Amino acid sequence: MRYHSHIVTSLLMGAAVASQTPLSFTASYTAGIVIGSLLPDIDEPNSYVGRRSFGVSGKVKEAFGHRGMTHSLLVWAVIALVVTFESSSLFSIGFVLGYLFHIMEDFFSVQGVPLLWPFQTKRYKIPLYRTGSFSETMIFYLAFSLLIYVGMKYELFTEWLQSISGFVH
Ligand SMILES: [Zn+2]
Repeated sequence: MRYHSHIVTSLLMGAAVASQTPLSFTASYTAGIVIGSLLPDIDEPNSYVGRRSFGVSGKVKEAFGHRGMTHSLLVWAVIALVVTFESSSLFSIGFVLGYLFHIMEDFFSVQGVPLLWPFQTKRYKIPLYRTGSFSETMIFYLAFSLLIYVGMKYELFTEWLQSISGFVH
């Protein structure tokens, strides 16, 4: 999945979570989601983050291959523990969720993800789309429309705007 699809589908899932929990849809929460949803592709030098990783990306790919360790649920669990132990801010929670959403999104791609790395290298998937294909474009527009819908319905955009204008902390 390309980076803009990851961002939009992750924001949609983040909005859905915020609409059903006490979590606030603030600027920090959404920034955490966006960054968390881009980070797993650091193991692909041609990805959005890979091209901006100052060479780290090539080294990770060399060592573990693309969609290797960074797409494992076990690695995510360790990151989630460390991050939430360090800080329980909305940014941290958004980051941990965004990272998880990325793995879920790639799980629905033809390529799949090694959910149980390092115990298994098997790639798990429910193949619904191929990266860069028409089906991914459809998912992008569908997620975008749903994001607008959920945002309007639960007044999340108002909450977001208030968070940047300083009314809600
Ligand atoms: Zn990925």
